[in-house]
Amino acid sequence: MSRKRSDDPRVLISVDALQRRIRELAEEIDRDHAEVDRIVAVGVLKGSVFFLVDLLQHLKTPVAIDFFQTSSYGSGTTSGEVRIRKDVDLSLRGQHVLLIEDIVDTGYTLRTILDLMRFRGAASVKLCTLLDKPSSREVEVPIDYCGFSIENLFVVGFGLDFAERYRNLPYIGVYDGDVDD
Ligand code: 5GP
Repeated sequence: MSRKRSDDPRVLISVDALQRRIRELAEEIDRDHAEVDRIVAVGVLKGSVFFLVDLLQHLKTPVAIDFFQTSSYGSGTTSGEVRIRKDVDLSLRGQHVLLIEDIVDTGYTLRTILDLMRFRGAASVKLCTLLDKPSSREVEVPIDYCGFSIENLFVVGFGLDFAERYRNLPYIGVYDGDVDD
């Protein structure tokens, strides 16, 4: 059965490649947290949701789940100004936090969130991103787990949107339209 529509973006990372890499990342995270009682997984809304669900299903380490939301792409992140829309509900003091993000671009969003988690007294903060666009980086962010490093393309699918479209594509595709529309 094919769910493909004629105007679907071209495939950059296939469903199989995504699933294979996500399983590998979960194994890596489990290995690094073998001595830890629990991880607090913090997903950055909304783009990380598909990745978070798949990743955590493969994780053997016990997890608590929470979410964080910042202002969306195009409304401040490129200037380095990141607004918090939704904060975590759990206390992070003394916790081992695993931040789960869809994509690191300029780095402003993650830099802001990482600093905040540390300020809240987390015992450790590790960053896991599905995608990384290293050529667009403007501020340094330490990435502990990275699914795929990609060129400076605007990508959609597997949680990532363009104006709320394409999030439910099961693969990562390249959006060829004008993103400044
Ligand atoms: P940064 O603060 O690193 O510049 O931006 C991170 C956020 O920008 C991501 O969480 C995501 O929401 C958005 N973003 C950056 N690059 C892309 C992209 O190629 N496609 C989509 N859909 N969003 C992106």
